[in-house]
Amino acid sequence: MARTLALVGGGLAHIELLRRLATAPISDFDVALFDPSPSVWYDPMVPGVIAGHYEPASAKVNLWALCQRARVRFFETSVTRVDAANQRIYTALGERHFYDLLSLDIGGSTRPIPAQEGAYVTPVKPTANLVEMVEERSALPSSNVRLAVIGGGATAIETILAIAHRWRERRAQLSLITEGSLLGGRHAAARKAALMACRHYGVQVSEGTRVNRILPGELVLSSGKRVVVHVAVLATGYSAPALLRNTDLALANDGSLLINPTLQSISHLNVFAAGNGAKIAEGTALRSIGTSTRLGGALLASLLAFARSEPLPVWTDSPPSSLLVSLGGKRAVACKAGLTLSGNLVWRWKDWADRRWIRRYAV
Ligand SMILES: Cc1cc2nc3c(=O)[nH]c(=O)nc-3n(C[C@H](O)[C@H](O)[C@H](O)COP(=O)(O)OP(=O)(O)OC[C@H]3O[C@@H](n4cnc5c(N)ncnc54)[C@H](O)[C@@H]3O)c2cc1C
Repeated sequence: MARTLALVGGGLAHIELLRRLATAPISDFDVALFDPSPSVWYDPMVPGVIAGHYEPASAKVNLWALCQRARVRFFETSVTRVDAANQRIYTALGERHFYDLLSLDIGGSTRPIPAQEGAYVTPVKPTANLVEMVEERSALPSSNVRLAVIGGGATAIETILAIAHRWRERRAQLSLITEGSLLGGRHAAARKAALMACRHYGVQVSEGTRVNRILPGELVLSSGKRVVVHVAVLATGYSAPALLRNTDLALANDGSLLINPTLQSISHLNVFAAGNGAKIAEGTALRSIGTSTRLGGALLASLLAFARSEPLPVWTDSPPSSLLVSLGGKRAVACKAGLTLSGNLVWRWKDWADRRWIRRYAV
């Protein structure tokens, strides 16, 4: 008899797993997928959506349609609790579902900064809120708004430059504030390209500046200084997804789900995980688009091996060392193996690769 497989979250690994089920159906599982949204953003194209290079619909995967093609039941709801001891999940719709095997690919949240009631704060995750904020503000008359992106990684740089490009003819004061240096002091040539792009758009960059609190209309820095900012966008790095605080599964120090190299939870072997919310014991996080996509195939192989009582494959991939950052307009910078290239040709290569990724999942 087919085993019940519950997939929680339409993360990139699950999307790849669904594509494989659609192209090569298997009878081992009766599969259901749970996600609060019927379509999911492909994040690398989001700065392009914000900048105005892409229509929003062209940067999304239709999760519901992919499920239909893969003969997977789709539940448009969040999972709010996992009771792994009793093999049950609970949803925001108030339902309880039994599973034989469970797989979690729920991404992550953005690390918060304490904020007072009334402060205007938009974390970059969930992506939908970020895009909505930019769309709504772009529709308002130009008003000399002061917006700051807080963070210094690739996502922070791409986000502020995309907003700067979109608002290049508006009155707005934009800044990028990071407690360290841009790109964490690595990739010096890419940092330089990012700083030049910020200068081009008039984005003020403050490195070595820590934001301690967000008040309505103001940021409070660790130095005690206050800076007038109407909208704070948080690109402050990964924080574990809320659901994991409501499970009996073993967690890492940062709140991620701790898994073996076979992608199984270290505490419950019939629970599997991939993507940003999971971390292999001994420290490897599974955080990048390329990794997540390859993980989809590995995840399916592990689930099938477990269901068929066969030895499970072991995940041995190492985290990618390359970097690709879009710079607002149709320009990007890429670093790989000590080599850095920037300009329109790099953006066109990124555009081609992103569109190819999306086409793979188009139904
Ligand atoms: C603007 C931006 C640009 C980025 N660009 C890049 C890039 O160029 N390259 C790169 O490698 N990374 C990039 N990233 C990071 C990238 O977003 C992540 O690495 C990637 O999305 C992780 O995928 P994931 O599969 O872990 O989860 P996600 O893609 O975040 O998907 C998680 C899914 O789980 C669902 N979910 C969450 N909680 C629940 C729940 N309780 N119940 C049910 N469903 C749930 C969500 O609705 C979502 O659909 C970017 C991020 C942002 C914000």
